[in-house]
Amino acid sequence: MTTNLLELEDVTASYGHVQVLYGVSLGLEDGGAVGILGANGAGKTTTLRAISGMVGTGGKITFDGESLVGKRPDQVAQLGIAHVPEGRGTLGHLTVKENLLVGAYQRKNRAEIAADIDYCLDLFPNLAMRISGSAAGLSGGEQQMLAVARGIMARPRLLLLDEASLGLAPSTTRELYDAVARLRQEWSLSMLVVEQNANLAFSLVDSATVLETGRSVLSGPKDELMGRDDIRRAYLGS
Ligand code: ATP
Repeated sequence: MTTNLLELEDVTASYGHVQVLYGVSLGLEDGGAVGILGANGAGKTTTLRAISGMVGTGGKITFDGESLVGKRPDQVAQLGIAHVPEGRGTLGHLTVKENLLVGAYQRKNRAEIAADIDYCLDLFPNLAMRISGSAAGLSGGEQQMLAVARGIMARPRLLLLDEASLGLAPSTTRELYDAVARLRQEWSLSMLVVEQNANLAFSLVDSATVLETGRSVLSGPKDELMGRDDIRRAYLGS
């Protein structure tokens, strides 16, 4: 019997006939945050897609004891997993507020939805100033903030965050990660974080797993990983 909220064991994944994951394993405790590190093409994004049901998978993926293998993305979302994809995926033709409401589409309680919109606007004050503007008019950083805010409007138990810092200025990245850290604390939100910038990932997570060509090769608490010369050289720029 597992105590982890999310458990991946020997997960495989393929795009059509092209297999890209060969054995990914990781565990995430309820309220915990785990980073996924690895070089370009190692399979980090595909691991998140495997959890979300966006790619054909094998092996074992369980969330709160329930298997996710074979589930569609909407079924995975319904179980309480929000995926903030690389490239953000905000809906440019809708306003900021409409994007937030899209995130809450499975919820019914209007008062709670309104309270969570207020929370998101407190978390990301830039969005408050642009609440009625189109998402297409936002800066890259604001679009990433909106993508995270839209994800949490579903009141998920688990957030999958993919390369949130990509293309953002350092100050915007810091603002975004501070907000995500606040979410972790205030909502006890569990998270799986894919991030090229390992220093940034380590500022948020408790532990991490390293992928190489579609396989987990190393996992451990962040202090242990940060103390290793090979990890520092490969991912921390020292
Ligand atoms: P990056 O940091 O570059 O995004 P990653 O570790 O997230 O890398 P993935 O995006 O998961 O890696 O890609 C893993 C492998 O799968 C790569 O070889 C990539 O070329 C391949 N791949 C990704 N998406 C597809 C797709 N839609 N169809 C076929 N192959 C794909």
